[in-house]
Amino acid sequence: GIGLAERLRAVKPSPTIAITQLANELRRAGRDIVGLSQGEPDFDTPDHIRAAAKAAIDAGATRYTDVDGTPELKQAIVRKFQRENGLTYEPGEISVGTGGKQVIANAFSATLDAGDEVIIPAPYWVSYPDMVRLAGGTPVTVACGEAEGFKIGPAALEAAITPRTRWLVLNSPGNPTGSCYSAAELKALAAVLLRHPQVAVLSDDIYEHVLYQSEGFATLAAIEPRLRERILVCNGVSKAYAMTGWRIGYAAGPKPLIRAMAMLQSQSTTNPSSVSQAAAVAALDGGLDFLRARNAVFRERRDLCVEAFEAAGLPCRVPEGAFYLFPSCAGLIGRKRPDGRAIASDVDVATFLLEEVGVAVVPGSAFGLAPFFRISFATATERLRTACDRIASACAVLR
Ligand code: PLP
Repeated sequence: GIGLAERLRAVKPSPTIAITQLANELRRAGRDIVGLSQGEPDFDTPDHIRAAAKAAIDAGATRYTDVDGTPELKQAIVRKFQRENGLTYEPGEISVGTGGKQVIANAFSATLDAGDEVIIPAPYWVSYPDMVRLAGGTPVTVACGEAEGFKIGPAALEAAITPRTRWLVLNSPGNPTGSCYSAAELKALAAVLLRHPQVAVLSDDIYEHVLYQSEGFATLAAIEPRLRERILVCNGVSKAYAMTGWRIGYAAGPKPLIRAMAMLQSQSTTNPSSVSQAAAVAALDGGLDFLRARNAVFRERRDLCVEAFEAAGLPCRVPEGAFYLFPSCAGLIGRKRPDGRAIASDVDVATFLLEEVGVAVVPGSAFGLAPFFRISFATATERLRTACDRIASACAVLR
């Protein structure tokens, strides 16, 4: 056979794989499964963006582009940061890749050596720790419970920093909890970071525009300009513009890092899709008015699910952003299924919900914090109601 690299040994198979496989098996067997595990908007890409992509194809935007983004897209990103975040960047400080995911992976690959540490507040987006491991670094996860709003505070950050710390990952609004860092909370973290010049910050702002709070969105680079040269601000069009399949993400940061990321990309995938880049220009320049109605729908769904979960004995912090809920299932642990099997973990809860009532959720342990589970409410409202009813009836049959 063909041997595999040593590096891959450090990467753990995701605990979600077993659940996904079980869901697929049940579907093939004809069961009606409500899938609440996917992290993408159920809305379509807005018409003006689709039209721009079609026009770009006809105008011949079908060839290789500059490796880390067309000048037009970089200019549109520069305008976005200025207009929406009050951040001033030049095109040479911008990197565009095939989704936010590639941009983040590039950043870790470009900066981490063996023994370098990356602080990742848990619960976290599943990919961060494995991206760090694949890049040869060491993830240092810091548990941030519901009492802390699932957010890292200055004391916990200070305690996690060592001389080997290279990055802190901040994700606000966050996946899987929807928690948002306020300007004051970021200011407190900035005070710690100013004392530790070896620590850079990867600010993953991809859910910036999926927001329900009136106080608006805050990002560290705007809160503490003295940290500007140590921050990589990551963002993308996937979530705000319902463009997950187009695969465009971007980042702004110091030029030497941006150049290194471009070098890595030039030896792996070259430029992201030319057509998608043209579509992303139309997205960023096209305004956010369409989002008001969409966010209102998300908010309605959020509220209906929070209420249903609370009633079912699954308490849930009300998220300020993104389209996920992260209810606690501590109350179900130690109980027995009708078939006599015991519920010992959130993986057992997820397995039970799938087998008993055909609802697919992701166990919190996949995101580094148990016992919780994550649902995405970027799902048609009627299906969500069905899912909530089913989850309530499943909880009711546990002994
Ligand atoms: N960051 C977070 C927190 C996410 O949840 C995701 C997608 O699920 C991404 C980044 C990457 O998204 P994309 O690669 O589609 O831009």
